[in-house]
Amino acid sequence: MQGQMMDYQLTLPTLLRRSETYFGANEIVTRLPDKSFHRYTYADSCRRARALAVALQALGLERGDRVATLCWNHYQHHEAYLGIPCGGFVLHTLNLRLHPNDLAYIATHAGDRAVIVDQSLTPLLDLFVDRTKIEHVIVVEDGYEQLLSGVDPDAWRDPELDENEAAAMCYTSGTTGMPKGVLYSHRSTMLHTLGVAAGNPMGLGISERDAILPVVPMFHANAWGYPYLATMLGAKLVYPGPHLDPESLLDAFERERVTWTAGVPTIWMGILALIDAEPDRWDLSRLKGMLVGGSAAPRSMIAGFKQRHGLNVVHGWGMTETSPVASTAQLIGDLQEADEDTQFDYIAMQGVPLPLVELRHRDVDGNILPWDGESMGELEIRGPWVAGGYYDTPEQADRWTSDGWFKTGDVVSLHPRGYIQIKDRSKDVIKSGGEWISSVELENALMAHPAVAEAAVIAVPDPKWDERPLAAIVLREGATATADELRAFLAPDFAKWWLPERFEFVAEIPKTSVGKFKKTELREMFSGIPA
Ligand code: ADP
Repeated sequence: MQGQMMDYQLTLPTLLRRSETYFGANEIVTRLPDKSFHRYTYADSCRRARALAVALQALGLERGDRVATLCWNHYQHHEAYLGIPCGGFVLHTLNLRLHPNDLAYIATHAGDRAVIVDQSLTPLLDLFVDRTKIEHVIVVEDGYEQLLSGVDPDAWRDPELDENEAAAMCYTSGTTGMPKGVLYSHRSTMLHTLGVAAGNPMGLGISERDAILPVVPMFHANAWGYPYLATMLGAKLVYPGPHLDPESLLDAFERERVTWTAGVPTIWMGILALIDAEPDRWDLSRLKGMLVGGSAAPRSMIAGFKQRHGLNVVHGWGMTETSPVASTAQLIGDLQEADEDTQFDYIAMQGVPLPLVELRHRDVDGNILPWDGESMGELEIRGPWVAGGYYDTPEQADRWTSDGWFKTGDVVSLHPRGYIQIKDRSKDVIKSGGEWISSVELENALMAHPAVAEAAVIAVPDPKWDERPLAAIVLREGATATADELRAFLAPDFAKWWLPERFEFVAEIPKTSVGKFKKTELREMFSGIPA
């Protein structure tokens, strides 16, 4: 027997209408390049998003056409997040930190027809636009305003899209291999938004009363869903513009009474160092949570924020392919009453999945592994906001199993209570004497040493063991430590064969376009050198 409910389509115009109707007076604030603040309301934003949809139609773009953005985090980018999909087009966020050759490849592969670009980024666009099929270049501080002022926002009609039509696309940032396009549907975006809201990490969930500052760039995996989540809930949004240095961020947290913020660990390491140095300079009493993800949040950082400043780090895990949020830190059952040390142990893992997301891990022979907190295997995932394929890349079809799971490429163990513990990316795990060494665990341990600012561990070839770990270390300013000291610091917590023989002291760890350790570059730097 079939159910008898409406076949209501999950499409983004629902969010636009809801936000205008119920939260029109709530604020969206942007820090402009000159550091002043631009303020307007959701009502203004939705009106301009509708105008953008109408204007793109007037340019001759058709349903399903890709409209790219090359922008920092600001209110016009927010309008594009809503206006482009609500016009029936596909929002394609371009990563402004990529090389022009990569951008040429990505924009061409996606078939972008138009681009909205910040004035300050037009020199970058000029380096690759001729190699693409982009016909319309719309500069935010210039043509964009003219475009909007030339149309009547009330001419917008809901295109009544099928929920499975594409709303947005984003290419993986290419930490491993060529960038691959992920094509989000209206349905997956709506369900991801609801899923993130329902996830309620560590009981600190977000509502209309919150003020959210996404540090995570809007060109990186839907800005982790915050533009849509805030629009759905009516929460105040604070966009930092191009000002992502710790001092500017702390200033914005205080002035705009930010309650929730999110970004990769390197950002928070910088912030922690600054507030450690000047603990009384900023009033952060309203900040209830910082979502940290994209790479592993070191336990020492989680503990440092909580113990020295009373601030909650909420760990999250996800991928471009998973919209991106798939799991967040939770303290389930008696863990809510556990001592702080035990709680930090759990928060330092990669959390439990959001509702509707399912996980398993398998060994190289395809056997499903037990959730014993030890057995290591590749994490596989399925759910309504997980990619079912890459855009026009049939050669990658083997990333999906025949029974419908996506192979993440992350090597994990799963804890008996369901927590994910990421040990490595499969390409980064160190294979030594037939056993696996987790670079992430060694890095976390090293970053707990008081003299260490950053640590990245990579595999270097070894004639006897196949591979051995090498630790690249950035020391804190004015601090000293020797290789022997660091090895002795690790020794109590690791098997002897896990300890790196080689430590290289470097001025900085090379980073990817979204601020993760770029291990490919480290391997190039150190692989040839004998231990
Ligand atoms: P890229 O693949 O280019 O790095 P993504 O942002 O899609 O871009 O990266 C997803 C990957 O980032 C995951 O597969 C995982 O390896 C890593 N990652 C994300 N969050 C965490 C986390 N909390 N801890 C450890 N690794 C993480």
